[in-house]
Amino acid sequence: MGSRKAYEIAFVGLKHGEHEFTYNLQDEFFNEKANELVEGMNAHVKLLLNKHKDFMLLKFQTGGTAKANCDRCGNELTTNLWDEFSIVVKLVENPEEMNAQEEDADILYIARSESHLEISDWLYEFVLLSLPTQNECGIDKEGTSLCNTDVLIKLAEMKSQADEPKVNSIWKGLEKFKDN
Ligand SMILES: [Zn+2]
Repeated sequence: MGSRKAYEIAFVGLKHGEHEFTYNLQDEFFNEKANELVEGMNAHVKLLLNKHKDFMLLKFQTGGTAKANCDRCGNELTTNLWDEFSIVVKLVENPEEMNAQEEDADILYIARSESHLEISDWLYEFVLLSLPTQNECGIDKEGTSLCNTDVLIKLAEMKSQADEPKVNSIWKGLEKFKDN
């Protein structure tokens, strides 16, 4: 219960205008939300909430770092998170009806009687969306790949070994046709 409250904003008590919130999200936060085990996450999210009379503008800025593995050689890398996401929360009389009609995923309707906003799903989603889809060791100043060359050579060897029998069996199969 205590951890859930940490991601609840009691917006009803906020004055009109901008308010800033910061969240530091480590592995435990993501492991609680996901079925997969997340390791090496150290995300920071700054939320700027601009409160107006009938709506709130939420701007999430993600930062921090995450651990990843190079797509080519498997080296462990530290990737930087950086992105921005905006959500508009509108206070209306008929939120269910309005949400059903709304096609924009960045607009949410809530009842005028609401007083709190639970934001942990957004925090989770936006940090995951900030992760790079491709991870590579990159190159140094001289333009040399920083990948682990021993691993790349091993992988190339394994690949050619795995390909060989397949190629042979295809040719053998074709030769059979040739004889007929
Ligand atoms: Zn690499």
